[in-house]
Amino acid sequence: MKRVYLDHAATTFIREEVIHSMIEVMQTEYGNPSSTYQKGRSAKVWVEKSRKTIANCLNVAAQEIVFTSSATEANNWVIHQALDSLQVTRIITTKIEHHAVLHPIERAHKNGVEVVYLSLDALGQIALESLENLLIEPKTTLVSLMHVNNEIGTVLDLEKVSALCQKYDAYLHTDAVQSIGKAVIDLQKTPLHFLVASAHKFHGPKGVGFLYVKKNTPFASLFLGGAQEKGWRAGTEAVHQIVGMCKALELSYQNLKFEKEVIETIKRETVNQLKSHFPGVQFVGGENQFYTILNVILPWSEEESSLLLFNLDMKGVEVSRGSACQSGSQKPSHVLAEILSAEDLKKPNIRISFCHQSTVEDVEFLIDALLELSNPKN
Ligand code: PLP
Repeated sequence: MKRVYLDHAATTFIREEVIHSMIEVMQTEYGNPSSTYQKGRSAKVWVEKSRKTIANCLNVAAQEIVFTSSATEANNWVIHQALDSLQVTRIITTKIEHHAVLHPIERAHKNGVEVVYLSLDALGQIALESLENLLIEPKTTLVSLMHVNNEIGTVLDLEKVSALCQKYDAYLHTDAVQSIGKAVIDLQKTPLHFLVASAHKFHGPKGVGFLYVKKNTPFASLFLGGAQEKGWRAGTEAVHQIVGMCKALELSYQNLKFEKEVIETIKRETVNQLKSHFPGVQFVGGENQFYTILNVILPWSEEESSLLLFNLDMKGVEVSRGSACQSGSQKPSHVLAEILSAEDLKKPNIRISFCHQSTVEDVEFLIDALLELSNPKN
């Protein structure tokens, strides 16, 4: 049975070249990077070369990149350190951050930190004036705002937020999981303190990510033990994972222009087809959110929405749940709950997310499946 995968914001396939580089390292570079003999030194060279390449992609120094097991780990680390090393008394964020940020912030709040959630417009955008009004008040503050929202594709104006944080001396953390490898981020032009990425979102392996920590930012160890990652994160480095992540990021940036154009074309086609087959269809935050993500509200009744994802899966289509009651869960998405009206929140909703290998045929397959579900007698 044909299957179509349109959930690239959840995870991506690993590029062939990435798999090859990982296999090569697994076959030949099994030395422990901490060992001082040749096999260890050689593995260490792979780790450090990868760090340098990733740093170059962001225009930062290699020493500012720390390898982690995931973006979840890196986000948790930053929020915990905000309390410990940075001694922040206030965190400014939004309610549409990923749970890997929101939950640690909730814990920080329980531990006495003031948390301010910025309000959002229908696109999921913050008002910069509101941020500035808060920052004027002199408090040791961490601003934690994601670069691209993983459910609706809202893009933060990172440059303006960075400028405000510099002006008022606030720490800035961004979860850039959905944008790294898909948008150019130059951290010399857009200075911030912490940036988080995850390899499996840019055609690299799962179980590895990285954290950028700006030089001279007070920060303490996540794990205590060996001296890996300058003692910040003890534990033998996952050499093959790190090399795979580095290769994936390099390729993403090499192919960025071309692949972006391909994805933009597919997204436009999807929007056009949805509009022509389902008059009244809505796109959460509009059609012009980040180019890899399209969040769709179908003009169907609440009843028709039940088991939508399950039924699409049965028809071979893999997309994601956007709102309530569609895959057995009664809980609406915390992102949609924040920006949709109660009425729209009940409507059937899917998140479609693309990669450069998504095709017009994939889109047609999805549309056919939706047409069959909207009119089961056909
Ligand atoms: N942040 C965002 C915006 C994400 O989309 C995800 C993954 O869904 C994460 C964090 C968590 O990433 P990881 O799977 O590396 O823990």
